[in-house]
Amino acid sequence: MKTETIVSIKNALGGRLEIVRQTFPAHNGKPTKRISFVAGLHGDELAGLYLCHLITRALRELQDTQPEVFLGEVNIYPAANPAGIHSANRLWPFYGLDMNRVIGQESGHSVGSRAASQLYRDIIKRSEYAVDIHASNLHFLELPQIRVIEEFAIDLLPLASETNADLIWVHPMAGLFESTLGYNLNQEKIPTLVVETGICHRIHPPLIEPLYRGMMHYLRHLGILDANYLSPETVRPPRVLYPKQVVQATANHSGLFISRVQAGETVHAGQVLGQIVDAVEGEVLEDVAAPAAGLLFTLREHPLTHAGALLARIAWDSES
Ligand SMILES: [Zn+2]
Repeated sequence: MKTETIVSIKNALGGRLEIVRQTFPAHNGKPTKRISFVAGLHGDELAGLYLCHLITRALRELQDTQPEVFLGEVNIYPAANPAGIHSANRLWPFYGLDMNRVIGQESGHSVGSRAASQLYRDIIKRSEYAVDIHASNLHFLELPQIRVIEEFAIDLLPLASETNADLIWVHPMAGLFESTLGYNLNQEKIPTLVVETGICHRIHPPLIEPLYRGMMHYLRHLGILDANYLSPETVRPPRVLYPKQVVQATANHSGLFISRVQAGETVHAGQVLGQIVDAVEGEVLEDVAAPAAGLLFTLREHPLTHAGALLARIAWDSES
């Protein structure tokens, strides 16, 4: 494993903020293909850091015991927004900069936007494939899923199906994606899977470890690791979701949402997902019912709820 610092910024008080790349080179020096894993672009989304830890640990062991299996090159950027991570902040602090909203823009001159553009250039130089790992925001817990913008679906669906994700959610393009890492890499013909799992500020191993096994399989599938000399990982075929199959439960009242289900459960139409309660008057304002049958893949974790807020998403099972 070769460690390289690709961004190094001196702090006002002398320390440094650094973005590090770990590279596992091809055994014979001529990589068949190269892949990059990126985590922590949003500094409070820690699931990807743990996923990178698991992948790095496994690859280090392989390098020690079976170095010949590295036919391609693996690059890992485990902490892409070090300033955000150190302050448990989604954004690059002080500037309030979202590193995943300035990619490909070349317009900003703040420290964070320069770091984002150096990171982007480094990934482009070293990748034929990429995986950008995110977690949800403070409000929701998500089952492991890969989000695919419609225009890239033909290329990405077969790849995303090899990662052991529970779901692939194919959704239309929206303006805000134009400055994301995933969109820009895909535009550059570097097939990039955008992973979303768990919730920010937390690490849920059961939502990350299946993806770890999936990514180790993906490396074999792409021929970056030599599958002939490694025992296979089994991956499940994911459920592919299009917008019409995503059904939302939303709040009719403002209050505290007390859920009675877990993400990953299969629910039936009308099943009570939880209640919205009023802490001041001691009233139950609403029993929240599942609007459709299917797999509950997004669940509100933050109880403070306003009328109209999203409470849950269900992958609609149209046959039941
Ligand atoms: Zn994110």
